[in-house]
Amino acid sequence: MLSSPVPPDEPSPRTAGAGRYAPSPSGDLHLGNLRTAVLAWALARRSGRAFHLRIEDLDVDRSRPEAAHRQVEDLRALGLDWDGEVVWQSERGAAHDVAITDLQERGLAYECYCTRREILDAPRAPHSPPGAYPGTCRDLDPVQREAGRARMGELHREPALRLRSEVATWTVQDLFAGEVTGAVDDLVLRRGDGVVAYNLAVVVDDAAIGVDQVCRADDLLSSAPRQAYLAHLLGVTQPEYAHVPLAVGPEGRRLAKRDGAVTLRDRIALGETPADVMRRIGASLGVDDCRTARDVLEHWEPGTLDPAPWVVDLAG
Ligand code: GLU
Repeated sequence: MLSSPVPPDEPSPRTAGAGRYAPSPSGDLHLGNLRTAVLAWALARRSGRAFHLRIEDLDVDRSRPEAAHRQVEDLRALGLDWDGEVVWQSERGAAHDVAITDLQERGLAYECYCTRREILDAPRAPHSPPGAYPGTCRDLDPVQREAGRARMGELHREPALRLRSEVATWTVQDLFAGEVTGAVDDLVLRRGDGVVAYNLAVVVDDAAIGVDQVCRADDLLSSAPRQAYLAHLLGVTQPEYAHVPLAVGPEGRRLAKRDGAVTLRDRIALGETPADVMRRIGASLGVDDCRTARDVLEHWEPGTLDPAPWVVDLAG
C-alpha cells in the first residue's frame, strides 16, 4: 500500500545519523549499482549525515575478497568517500549472535524444520503474501520439536531459526514512496546452514553504525517493513528509507552482464573514464555535465527523481 510521497528533506546541518551503501560483493558494480551508491551518498551528505560503506559478504565466497576490493575502488573512482573504515559484515558475527540470543530469550524465536518444498506446498491463509511462512513450526510442542530435530538429523541439516512475529504488517516511511505498509511474516533469523539471515544482519549492522537513512534499490522496498519491525523489537532506530529505481536493460529486465559493457571497469576498457560514467549517471538524474559524485550532491534535487526504472541505453 503506498500513499503520497513525503517531501524530500532539504539540505540541513545535522550532527547525528548516517546513511550507507551496502553492496554484496558478488561481482563488479554495474551502472545501476553505482547510481544507487551515488544517491545514497548524496542523500546522506546533503542532510549532514555521516556515510558508511559496508560489504555484505555473509553469503559469498570469502576466499576471494578481490571482488569487494574492486567495488571499493570503483566507488572511490566516482568520488565517493565514507566515514571510518569499510565494515565487513562477515566480521560482525558476535553482534548478530547477541541480537539472536536476545530474541530467543524473549521467546521471539523458534526452530523451523520445514524444507523449502514443504513451505511452498503448505496451505496458507487466503490473503497471506506469496512466499510468506505459513507458521507450520510456530506452535509445536516439545515432542513434535524432538521429532522435527530427528528428521533434520536424518537429512543432515540443522533447523533454521525464525522470528515469532507478533504483527502481520508494519509501516515505514520512504522518502520517495511515502508511507509504505507491508507484510511481516515469521522471517528467518538464522538459516539451516548456520548463516545469519540478511534481514537480521542488515538491521543489527545498520544500528551499530548509527544508520538512520537507508537508501538502496527499490527491489528491497518490500523487505523494509519486516526490517523496521525487527529494529523495533531490538530497540534500535527504525531508519527512514529512500528506495530508488532499479536499472534495467533495453528489454526492461534488470541490468546484467547480458546487456554488454555495464560495469565501470567494462566502460573503462572501452576507453571511457570515471567522469564519463558519472556524466551518464548524472544525465539519468537530470544533472548535466556531471564529472564526479560531488556534482550530484550539489545539483541533484531528490524531488525530481523519476520513479520509473532507469533504462540504461549504452548506445547513447
Ligand atoms: N546487500 C544488498 C544488495 O547488494 C543490499 C542490502 C541493503 O542495502 O539493505 O542488494
